[in-house]
Amino acid sequence: MALYTNDSKERVRDAVDMVDLVSSRTELRRAGANRLTGLCPFHEERTPSFGINPAEKVYHCFGCQASGDAFTFVMETEGVDFKGAIELLADRYKVALELEQEDPQAAEARKRRERLLELLERTSAFYVRQLWESQEAARARAYLDERGLQEGTLREFRVGYAPSAWDTVLNGSRRAGYANRELWDSGLAQKSQKSGKIYDRFRSQIIFPLADSRGRVRGFAGRTLGDDMRPKYVNSPEGEVFHKREQLFAADLARAPAAKAGSVVVAEGYTDVIAMHQAGVRNAVAIMGTAMTEEQLAGLARLAPVLRLALDADSAGQEAMVRTARLAKDRKLQIEVVPLVAGEDPADLLRRAGGEELVRRIAEAVPYIRFSVHRAIETGDLGDARGKDGVLDRIGVIWRLVAPGVEQDELVRTISNRLDLSPDLVAQELKRRSQSAPPVSAPSSAPAAAMESAARTTTALNRREPTERAFLGYCIAMPELGGPALEQLELEADLSSPLMRRAAVHLRSHLRNPAEALPEHDPELSAMMAELAVRATGLSATPSAFAIERLQLALARSDREIAAARVAASGDISELARRRSAVREELARMLGQAMDEGSSPR
Ligand code: ZN
Repeated sequence: MALYTNDSKERVRDAVDMVDLVSSRTELRRAGANRLTGLCPFHEERTPSFGINPAEKVYHCFGCQASGDAFTFVMETEGVDFKGAIELLADRYKVALELEQEDPQAAEARKRRERLLELLERTSAFYVRQLWESQEAARARAYLDERGLQEGTLREFRVGYAPSAWDTVLNGSRRAGYANRELWDSGLAQKSQKSGKIYDRFRSQIIFPLADSRGRVRGFAGRTLGDDMRPKYVNSPEGEVFHKREQLFAADLARAPAAKAGSVVVAEGYTDVIAMHQAGVRNAVAIMGTAMTEEQLAGLARLAPVLRLALDADSAGQEAMVRTARLAKDRKLQIEVVPLVAGEDPADLLRRAGGEELVRRIAEAVPYIRFSVHRAIETGDLGDARGKDGVLDRIGVIWRLVAPGVEQDELVRTISNRLDLSPDLVAQELKRRSQSAPPVSAPSSAPAAAMESAARTTTALNRREPTERAFLGYCIAMPELGGPALEQLELEADLSSPLMRRAAVHLRSHLRNPAEALPEHDPELSAMMAELAVRATGLSATPSAFAIERLQLALARSDREIAAARVAASGDISELARRRSAVREELARMLGQAMDEGSSPR
């Protein structure tokens, strides 16, 4: 892929109006000289915990920890990659981009890919013309009409028709200058086993173009008409430009509506999604087949933080839900289930009951866990002990996905009521079953125990970090005091994690423009700088507040040193303790002084 020059990137960054950019996604309110806050566009909330620093052009959410600059903002909200983001921003703020000089080999590969995409685009347009203009497609038009799909909607989705001849696309493309090799690489051709000759892969089929999130056609799905023994759907083969695992049908059309709604509706079939868009559910996409892949889930996460699964309630749909819930656990994604009855897909529901009913069902989507618990109870046999055991078994499999807390308690109560068992017994039985159940995350990931211990370590580390973040935030807010303080910092002793140390090192040389000149390979550091730059705008910057933060840091360091000396049973603990109480006294004095000044330090 061709890259834009660093200079282009900086000119785009300079041209961006951060307030204007973010305002298109959420309403911002001025909350200080250089601070604006609003409801977070990345998670659902009622009180604003999202802020931007318009001078540094960075954002941070104190609720979901989303952080970044104008580029990541566009990547996250528009579901595009970096190249897509820089192009969107350059277009919006009128900056001309310059391409990096490519090495000849990379340039060659890029040109090849671009030609394949061009060929697919042309072919897509050809199929669309066939659907609406050819005699042969009458049966296809009748089928789509029967499904209640209107011409306007079908044209928006670029649905087409592949004629029955063996070589229409091949001949047309050859005349336009494409080589056999390109026809093969784009997935449009198929090879005869006998003669070794190639011919059109898609014939006598309704064609659904499979585009990426920017709307570029990558491949096709062909639906066979008629009821002979051939498979219902034929897809483009895996290749240079088509990757089935990443494919989300209609992601390009659903992108903006999903960002606005904060949720994305996930269905199984192409016609389901087209019907949903026609009925006004514009944030709907389809997964290909029923098995959700990690790549698809990552794509969905870029569209919205809440996934509403409108999958058939049959067993394949159920399995897809379980898989999605397991994959989503590590991603802060909220999974909800749209209540559909078995054997009914969204398109059926639409035909039977209309768009309003579908919209109502989607609004009634329930969290996945609650849905599964109720389903296990409703479909279980509650008449005897064996039946109840079966229900507990089925809930036990997913129980590990339920975090301890109010929700878990509530579910235990529901189950104990319906099964007529004591809550203690239900809790104990579910715990036992969930421990013997296979790990809930994807099979490839680390065993649950290792993950849990890693999570504990991270939490313990993070507990020290708030003090350090606050201190570094004050350094940015008051650079005249922060500069010298940063110089005096002993990185290893004063800061508890490598990330905080990298942050301090970066700030030593970029205190007045912390979001600039960040190394490309350290996204953690970039996110941290965005957070600190936003945090700094919300601080009451007084010398005593600064002194207090500095003392808090010293106190935390003292605590660490004493704890370490105890563990190692070495060092002069009484000397460390004496130093610690001196810090405490100084801190108490400063707090008193700050109160007299009438400022609120934290
Ligand atoms: Zn947030």
